Amino acid sequence: MCGIVGYVGENRATPILINGLLKLEYRGYDSAGLAVVENGNLAVMKNKGRVSNLEELDGINNLTSTIGIAHTRWATHGRPSAENAHPHMDNSKTFAVVHNGIIENYNELKDFLISKGYTFYSQTDTETIPNLIHYYFSRDEKDDGDKFLRAVRSACNDLKGSYAIEVISNLSPNECIVVRKDSPLVVGVGTNENYIASDIPAILPFTKNFYLLDDNELTVIKKDSVFFYDNSLEQHNKAIKNIEWDALSAEKDGYEDYMLKEIFEQPNSIRETIGSRLKLGEECNFDDLEFSKEYLENLNKIYIVACGTAMHAGLVGKNIIEKLCKIPVTVDIASEFRYRDPLVDEKTLCIYITQSGETADTIAALKLAKSKGSKTLAISNVIGSSITREADYSIYTHAGPEIAVASTKAYTSQVVLLAILAIHFAEILEASDKETLENLKTDILDLPTKIGAVLDNLDDLKEFAKKIYTEKDMFFLGRGTDYNVALEGSLKLKEISYIHSEAYAAGELKHGPIALIENGVTVIGIITDSKLVEKTISNMQEVITRGAKTLVITNQNLPNTHFDYVIDIPNTSSLISPILSVIPLQLLAYYISKYKGLDVDKPRNLAKSVTVE
Ligand code: GLU
Repeated sequence: MCGIVGYVGENRATPILINGLLKLEYRGYDSAGLAVVENGNLAVMKNKGRVSNLEELDGINNLTSTIGIAHTRWATHGRPSAENAHPHMDNSKTFAVVHNGIIENYNELKDFLISKGYTFYSQTDTETIPNLIHYYFSRDEKDDGDKFLRAVRSACNDLKGSYAIEVISNLSPNECIVVRKDSPLVVGVGTNENYIASDIPAILPFTKNFYLLDDNELTVIKKDSVFFYDNSLEQHNKAIKNIEWDALSAEKDGYEDYMLKEIFEQPNSIRETIGSRLKLGEECNFDDLEFSKEYLENLNKIYIVACGTAMHAGLVGKNIIEKLCKIPVTVDIASEFRYRDPLVDEKTLCIYITQSGETADTIAALKLAKSKGSKTLAISNVIGSSITREADYSIYTHAGPEIAVASTKAYTSQVVLLAILAIHFAEILEASDKETLENLKTDILDLPTKIGAVLDNLDDLKEFAKKIYTEKDMFFLGRGTDYNVALEGSLKLKEISYIHSEAYAAGELKHGPIALIENGVTVIGIITDSKLVEKTISNMQEVITRGAKTLVITNQNLPNTHFDYVIDIPNTSSLISPILSVIPLQLLAYYISKYKGLDVDKPRNLAKSVTVE
């Protein structure tokens, strides 16, 4: 999920690798490292923290090798540390590997390799890869030029999950083998030198000519050649793509802003969050938690505590947990909870959600619940973050680094993780029938494809944004879980477009806010729950009668109504529909902000990680 750089050529590799890593610093990372083939041996250097900590290591400036691989790590398995930093080597120190992504079956692979006599020195999933390569290499009796390639191919065939990997070996000191699956990787072409990177900015200063690798395409890179192979090791050709991006648009992967990039990353971030936790026909996998049936049965309630967008994810989670597990759930704002003297005890499970894991109010709220005897569970996107060091249990969203201040992919990943957690609890408690849970699992697994469909359908949204971007006030309405999405849509709009907006439970309209509806006011309705369609339509009708402009986001076949715009999204279980219905709202806020000419990624007065009260 973080950065990869590689070099094969005639110049010293180390400065090129370090320069590439520095170009990827904007993505955020927790450690950095590199490996080169030096005088017939692999030399690996790595350190926790910034790339500058790597540069300070003794001897790094003496490396003269002209081939090397490098990495900035965003930990997913094992805390940030020098041992867990990449590259990782096999036990015989013949293969060095850097890896972006997650190996979902690493436990299985590790057990297998341990049974074959291998030892593991890190807590990462990655360390299985060089050892697997060694395992296949040492068993291959055909000693021809393709043995290294065959070993990498066989190892990759055993990997489940997502990966972009680079491998070098001291036995084959002139080549680097790379493969990707569901994680980006490109090869940059030079004269008598070639480059590798997970992200174009790392090597953009050196070349504009790239091969964009496809999933499972084995690529062998030497200084004067790049060869591509399929899984049967049949070679094929590939066209070079000329990319004339400037450095800034390259950092954003060609998107205008990080926020837009992150909105479009949601199919993948959801896939990573689901990871190996959820499979059809099997119970959910939470081997990082240990809640017994007895403990869950005896809970008096679950508290979900968070701030801002994470709190809105909690509201969606409450609905799912209550429906599936029949345990009462209270959602609280962390800054309120911490000073409320909340009624929590050892029979309360307290769940804390924070993208960064550093949110001061949420951490304080967790400490408070712990002191009252509650078990605490943190949901965060950053391994080893402060909250995960305080909590009894931590689970991760694996959404990848989120750079835009306004959270998008972290929110949808938090909701997905809460949904899987709810299914897990329901399975332990036997609180829902198997069919209900199995249908919900199918719907969760279908989310990445359905999000792709939402992202393909943007013209009406853009047009609507253009019509309303000069307005001063807007309203978001919904019932049930659609109200939770209304809250998040309204927050996104405030954060990046500075337009005042209010979200209301649609039934509340006539208890006050309808007094504000007058000719020309914009009202956005979210309608995804078949049981509530008519109710919300009636409320929308009331605002239309008073002259409102309306946009409706729905997965229902609405009767002929008088809405100005209707955005259709794919159908899914109403429990998780927020993951789809929030996306047009994220994009609406984005387009409005763009039309207003604002800085989408860095809205005024806001910080990405709120580490103060
Ligand atoms: N899963 C690997 C680890 O935790 C790779 C993380 C990354 O993509 O940076 O070490």
